[in-house]
Amino acid sequence: MVNIGTHVSSSKSIDLVFDRGLEVGARSIQFFVSSPRSWKWKERTDKEKELFFEKKEKFNISPLVVHASYLFNLASADENLRKKSINGVINELNLCEELKIDYYVIHAGKAKGQKEEKAIENILKSMEEIFLKVNLKNTVFLVETLAGQKGEIGKTTQEICQLVKPFESENIGVCLDTCHLYSAGYKINTEEGFKSYKEELKNIIGLEKVKVIHCNDSKTPFNSHKDRHEHIGKGSIGLEGFRLFLNDKDFSKLPFILETPKEGNWDEINIKTLKSLINVPVAQSG
Ligand SMILES: [Zn+2]
Repeated sequence: MVNIGTHVSSSKSIDLVFDRGLEVGARSIQFFVSSPRSWKWKERTDKEKELFFEKKEKFNISPLVVHASYLFNLASADENLRKKSINGVINELNLCEELKIDYYVIHAGKAKGQKEEKAIENILKSMEEIFLKVNLKNTVFLVETLAGQKGEIGKTTQEICQLVKPFESENIGVCLDTCHLYSAGYKINTEEGFKSYKEELKNIIGLEKVKVIHCNDSKTPFNSHKDRHEHIGKGSIGLEGFRLFLNDKDFSKLPFILETPKEGNWDEINIKTLKSLINVPVAQSG
């Protein structure tokens, strides 16, 4: 059975992510370890960590994925912001290592007026600094595919490749996001577009580098370069795109994590919708 999970809140106490996952029937979960919109780093108490480990044992929820704060920009030309981002990532990654989190997903950075090559160079320099301070053993660092909104780096397979290839590490990989891919100009919701994207990914990066799939429909049209997530089947991607991913022999082995809007019982509805697409033959086109 395909592993379908969702992003859950870690507010109040970090161990509650398990309860929140169970409540909606998630097999895997993703959460933030610091407020995604604040620079403040909060040390966790021993009690909180203890509870986290207890529930990690008890609840059958895996893998565990942490999403990096949205404030970080490892590409920044502003040295102060870049350093702050590096420190923020180091804090989060150290906690991930301690809590034995499987994957840490990050938006690598935004060019913000710089040439893309320069932004990529800055990200690589930042990653080197991070990996000098944190020795990855338990956690795999994943660079996420992005929509290309406001100079985001990681909108093409080539850009993602430039960020992960130099490290040649088992602990560095890739997280796909269906909404971002579609907004970035990959037509993943037709059989032809899906096949050609998968082929490109295989040839340039290698499918074994892909560890997690963020499963979101898109509020904005194809190739819009906007990052606006929508409920499954309610956006411009439509059910067909998700059916293709869920029934693919390689991708179906990966965790599919929802990052759709948190409204009412929509997590449960989206999980149900995704499950209903499994083992359903892909519609014949033409
Ligand atoms: Zn993301």
